[in-house]
Amino acid sequence: AIEVAGLHKSFGDLEVLKGIDLTVRRGEVVCVIGPSGSGKSTLLRCVNLLEQPTAGKVTVSGTEVTDPDVDIDRMRRRIGMVFQAFNLFPHLTVLGNLTISQRRVLGRGKAEAERLARAHLAGVGLGDKESAYPAQLSGGQQQRAAIARALSMGPELMLFDEPTSALDPELVGDVLAVMRKLADEGMTMLVVTHEMSFAREVADRVIFMDDGQIVEEGPAEQVVTDPQHQRTRLFLARVL
Ligand code: ATP
Ligand code: MG
Repeated sequence: AIEVAGLHKSFGDLEVLKGIDLTVRRGEVVCVIGPSGSGKSTLLRCVNLLEQPTAGKVTVSGTEVTDPDVDIDRMRRRIGMVFQAFNLFPHLTVLGNLTISQRRVLGRGKAEAERLARAHLAGVGLGDKESAYPAQLSGGQQQRAAIARALSMGPELMLFDEPTSALDPELVGDVLAVMRKLADEGMTMLVVTHEMSFAREVADRVIFMDDGQIVEEGPAEQVVTDPQHQRTRLFLARVL
């Protein structure tokens, strides 16, 4: 579970998050939507402390990550993150990409790391690509490999930041299908996305952010098809 309370983040004079309160329960899928610059990525980056919040509290699985004494590397291992850019190591094969952190960060042996890597590759439909290099894969395959890499670390929850927005349209579906399967398996997920049909069908709740604040939050179907706030309506009219 993720709990965010009174989260503020400023970059110099620019206040990007203006008091965010948010809970993602275990096994829940929450999608965050909102215009460019509204603070969606910053929110995600504050959850795994890629950014240090200016004020407020973030708790992940009962551990307060904003506590100055927390072992942040250890905490990050429990959180999988997938970005818009695929961030695979270009000089490593797919199997190498999936095993390097398991071995270096978690200290797993080669055989164990490879066994887990292969299981997760099969899970995202890349069972036949372990020897390929990232450049030999399509964008959608690279993103699925990035998801499998995050999963092979055994995270308790997954953060996704627009995982399909850099993909050609015909490749988006495969990545969303992998995410949908993960949701069905009970993974706790916080997903920033512009894919409204995914949000509507897969998310338990949708949060609309604008200008550093949560404007509206509710059951996915309701927020996407019957928003209560004018700003949400205007945004949806632009993206749907
Ligand atoms: P998009 O949909 O375009 O990805 P977003 O909702 O994810 O937008 P953020 O990336 O969180 O928005 O950015 C929110 C605001 O914070 C923007 O005005 C951005 O310029 C600013 N910002 C983000 N990171 C930094 C940084 N490291 N230094 C200064 N300003 C930043
Ligand atoms: Mg962003």
